[in-house]
Amino acid sequence: MARITYETRKDWQNYHLTLTNDIDDYGIFDREEEGCCAKGSPLSGPELFRATRGPLHDYIAKAVKDRVAAGMIGRAWSFAPLAGSNRRELDLTGLQGCTRATAADLHPDCSDAPEDVAFVRGGTTLRCLVEWAKNLSPRRSIMTSGTHLGPTVAGGFGTASHGSRLGFGGLQDMVMGMHLITGEKESVWIEPARAPVLSGAAASRFATRIIRSDAMFDDALIHLGGMGIVNGVALRLAPYHSYNVLAVVHPLWPDWEAQVEQGRFREIAAQLGHDDDPAFYEVTIDPFDNDGTRDAIHLMYFIAPPGLLPPDGGDGTPLPHAGDSIAGFAKELVRRKSESEAHGLWPEGFSAFSYYKGLVREFYGAFTLPITPASPALGWEHLHRDVVTGNAPGALYNASYAIRRDEVGRALPLILSAARDLEPAFLNTIRFVTRPSGTLAFTRFEETAVIEIDGLSDNLPDALPDEVPDEARAWGVFTKTGAMKIRTEFDLNGIDYSMHWAKLGQLDAPKVERDFGPRDDPASPIGRWRATRTALLAPEARAVFVNDALRTYKLVP
Ligand SMILES: Cc1cc2nc3c(=O)[nH]c(=O)nc-3n(C[C@H](O)[C@H](O)[C@H](O)COP(=O)(O)OP(=O)(O)OC[C@H]3O[C@@H](n4cnc5c(N)ncnc54)[C@H](O)[C@@H]3O)c2cc1C
Repeated sequence: MARITYETRKDWQNYHLTLTNDIDDYGIFDREEEGCCAKGSPLSGPELFRATRGPLHDYIAKAVKDRVAAGMIGRAWSFAPLAGSNRRELDLTGLQGCTRATAADLHPDCSDAPEDVAFVRGGTTLRCLVEWAKNLSPRRSIMTSGTHLGPTVAGGFGTASHGSRLGFGGLQDMVMGMHLITGEKESVWIEPARAPVLSGAAASRFATRIIRSDAMFDDALIHLGGMGIVNGVALRLAPYHSYNVLAVVHPLWPDWEAQVEQGRFREIAAQLGHDDDPAFYEVTIDPFDNDGTRDAIHLMYFIAPPGLLPPDGGDGTPLPHAGDSIAGFAKELVRRKSESEAHGLWPEGFSAFSYYKGLVREFYGAFTLPITPASPALGWEHLHRDVVTGNAPGALYNASYAIRRDEVGRALPLILSAARDLEPAFLNTIRFVTRPSGTLAFTRFEETAVIEIDGLSDNLPDALPDEVPDEARAWGVFTKTGAMKIRTEFDLNGIDYSMHWAKLGQLDAPKVERDFGPRDDPASPIGRWRATRTALLAPEARAVFVNDALRTYKLVP
C-alpha cells in the first residue's frame, strides 16, 4: 500500500543549495513494496495510477484542514524556489513506476500503437524510465531529456526542461495526457482533443473527471507545481537507437551563424567531418574570446544505422556536458591559485572553457572521425549521467535564456560583450528546441535557441567545504554578473528572450508579465494558464498549490 509518512526537516536544502527552509511537515511518499521502478510494474496502467491516488488526496485534505500551502518536491533540482519553499512539502521521488498501455486502454482515435504508450508515475526519474524502456520488447527509449537523467518526469516537463534534440520540443512534448490530483476527492485525466489517448473506461478507473481540450492541456503542461499533483502521465516512447557521437573542438566558421539560424545542421555536421543529419547538437563557446579565435566545442549525436549494432561504447565512463565541468574546474582553480606566485590573481590562460575543452578531449577520446559502422555508439541511457560530476551541485551556477534561433548571430557578440571585464568563471552553451508545447513554455519561439550560462557559484565553498576556501564565494559573483549582463545586453539591443523557470538569473514578476502577460488579460498566456488552474483545482485546493516562485512571479493570487 502506498502511504505518506511525515517528519520535520530543519535547514532542508535543495540540490543546488540555492534554497534553505525549515519544513515542519516533510511528507515522504512511499510505495516501496512495489520494488525497483526500472523493472516495470505488474499493474495495468489504470491500476498503476489508481493505486497511488489515495494518499495524494489525503495530503490535500490535510493541507485544506490545516489551511496551509503544501508543495511537491521531485528531485529538488530546480535552482528557483519552485520546490521546497513551504512549511509543508511532499517528497514525491517515491511515486515511481512504469507500465505499458494495452489496446484496451487506448481511445479509438489514438493514433499511437499501445507499445509506444507508457503509463509513468510522476516521481519516476528519467533514469528509471529509460532503463525500463530499453528492456521492453521491442526496445524503446525517450526522444529527449536534459543533460542528466536525474530529474523526475513531473518536475522535468512541468518546468519545460529541454535538451537539444533537433526538430523536437522539450520534455513536455513526450507527454500525451496527465492524471492530476486536484482536490480532496477529485482528480482529472486531461488530454488534448486533437490527440486523444485513453478510452473513457480506462481513464475513469482512476480519475473522477475527464477533460479533452487542446487549450486546457497546453495550459496545464507547464504546471510549475501549481496545477495539482501529477500522479502520472501517458508518455510517448521513442524507438530505441544507438547514437554515434561527434565531439570536436573547432572554431566557428564565417557561415556558422547563418547555418544555425536557418537550421542547416547537416551542413554544420559536414563541416565538422560527418555528412549526416544530426539528431542532437549543442555548441559551447568561450565568452572570454578576446582574440576573436571563435573556439567552440561541438557535440552531436547521429542515429547509428540499424542492423548490425555498433560496439556499445558505454563502459560507464562519464560523458560530461558543460555543467559537469564546474566542480572540477573549481578544484583546479584552487590548486593553480595556491601555486601561483601572483596569488589573488586569476591564473593566466585558465578558464571554465579551457577546462571543459580538456575534459572533452579526455572523455570523448574514443569518438574519433570518420564515423563508420564500426564506430562506438551509445544508447540514450549511456549518453547521459544521473548527477553532475563530483556530485557537488552547489558548485554550479546556471541560468538559461531562450531566444529566437534566427537571432543567434546577433546574440553572440552581445554575449561576448557581457563577459568583458569579468574573470573567466563561466562558459556558454547553445542548444535548440523546436515548436515546444505548453502555454508557459519559456522556450516560446517556433525555433528556439537556448543560451546556457554555466559557471562557478557563490555556494562553491558550501558544496566543496574541504577543498574550496570561503574567499572563493567571490568567484561566483563573476558568473552571476555575467548572467545579468547578458540580460542587459539583450534588453538594450532588442533581443526578445525568456528565462528558464527552474534556473537562476533573477526572474521576476515584471519580466514574466512582459513575456507572458498582461496578467489581467484573460486572453494572455498568464490569463489562460490561471483560468485553467482555476477550472482544474477544487476551490478549496487553490490555496494549497502555491510555492515561492509562483508567488514571486505573481502567477497565483
Ligand atoms: C545538474 C542539472 C542539470 C540540469 N539540466 C537541465 C537541462 O539540460 N535542461 C533543462 O531544461 N533543465 C535542466 N535542469 C533543470 C531541471 O530540469 C529542472 O529543475 C527540473 O524541474 C528538475 O526536476 P525535479 O524532479 O528535480 O523537479 P523539482 O525541482 O523537484 O520540481 C520542479 C517543479 O515541479 C513540481 N513537481 C515536482 N514533482 C511534482 C509532481 N509529482 N506533481 C506536481 N508537481 C510536481 C515542484 O513542485 C516544482 O514546482 C538541470 C538541473 C540540474 C540540477
